Amino acid sequence: MNHAAVPTIAQMPADFWAGKRVFVRADLNVPQNEAGHITDDTRIVETLPTVRYLLQRGASVILASHLGRPKGAVVESMRMAPVAKRLQQHLPEVTLYAATEVCSPTVHLQATQLKPGDVLLLENLRFEPGEEANDPALAKNLAQLCDVYVNDAFGAAHRAHASTAGMAHQVTHRFAGLLMAKEIEMLSAVLNQPKRPVTAIIGGSKVSSKLSVLSHLLPKVDCLVIGGGMLFTFLLAQGQSVGQSLVEADLAPEASRLLNAAQQAGVRVLLAEDVRVADRFAEDAQTQVVSTESIPDGWMGLDIGPKSIAAIQAQLSASATVLWNGPVGVFEMDAFATGTRAVAQSLADLTESRGASFQSILGGGDTVAALERFAIAPQRFTHVSTGGGASLEFLEGRTLPGIAALMPTTVTASLV
Ligand code: ADP
Ligand code: MG
Repeated sequence: MNHAAVPTIAQMPADFWAGKRVFVRADLNVPQNEAGHITDDTRIVETLPTVRYLLQRGASVILASHLGRPKGAVVESMRMAPVAKRLQQHLPEVTLYAATEVCSPTVHLQATQLKPGDVLLLENLRFEPGEEANDPALAKNLAQLCDVYVNDAFGAAHRAHASTAGMAHQVTHRFAGLLMAKEIEMLSAVLNQPKRPVTAIIGGSKVSSKLSVLSHLLPKVDCLVIGGGMLFTFLLAQGQSVGQSLVEADLAPEASRLLNAAQQAGVRVLLAEDVRVADRFAEDAQTQVVSTESIPDGWMGLDIGPKSIAAIQAQLSASATVLWNGPVGVFEMDAFATGTRAVAQSLADLTESRGASFQSILGGGDTVAALERFAIAPQRFTHVSTGGGASLEFLEGRTLPGIAALMPTTVTASLV
């Protein structure tokens, strides 16, 4: 797909927006603690430029997002009310209405009564079973709320849901928001003309979902660094014992195939040579550094060791582009944060010292949370993506349904 052809809101003349009702699909899926308090409002803040852009040009905005995984039913603890409250704090001058439903005659009425400069925040999209099922009826209902559709939810663009794909086909005017446009611009530069060598660091704990990504990434990279919980399934595939470490044993054959494919493709695979193991999953566990060949029974690997850190740092220095998704250890506990902190720090330093000859592209919710924990500003990297799975699928070269739906040519007879 030619990503340069994706229409964006910035391409329209300023007077286009006056009096328009604009549906903005945003990613407001913020983390909350047990008390329902928002612990990090980055995603809300990142949506503000698009919302302000539209309001300042005389549009009214219908804002919608999913929050958590309510699986098609109303879950009281996943209502958007806390998001509405935080949004209002960021937009004190704006009249903001919070709907208590996603679609209903009441919501429709609320939408039609919006005045230029007003915002209506819809209830959690995933309260509707039709959202994730991409139900045409829900898509049509949502489409009827607005004159213009804007997608700014890059983090949800790899899903073909009613609000990310289905409804876009039913609205005449559709655009990428400012955040979506920036993601597309930054990531397509890396996808189309990556500076080589390219190294991808893949960590984290979602072994099953990331393994398939790895095989697609293989043709695009020169070196694959595998860290975090991913590592142990690979070690198991090599016949090593991994003690109590996180593994998905049934995926070991797939990991094995991937190692073979990498060898055939001439891609270097860097697996940790040492790990910090713990006798239990706790901050105050007993720990020791061992070779990955001798993980003791009953112990679990929770971080990469110093030799592995040094090997990764050498590889990063020898790279021109680094893609990083997934922490290389349990960074939430100080005792196991060393590897992740070292990777983040090295990447920030290289990005600063090497200027245009080094690009660092980061993605993944927990990877971004790690930066925050280490107080390493996202501005110190070339691009920190707001999408984890979406950025990986984009970099694999796949067409994301949420982006494809914005293209002018995708109106098909069956969907209208
Ligand atoms: P991201 O959100 O960046 O894509 P994931 O969601 O895949 O990353 O994984 C993040 C989680 O992986 C973190 O909570 C981290 O504690 C965990 N993790 C990292 N290394 C290990 C490990 N060795 N064992 C268990 N969990 C790990
Ligand atoms: Mg995660």
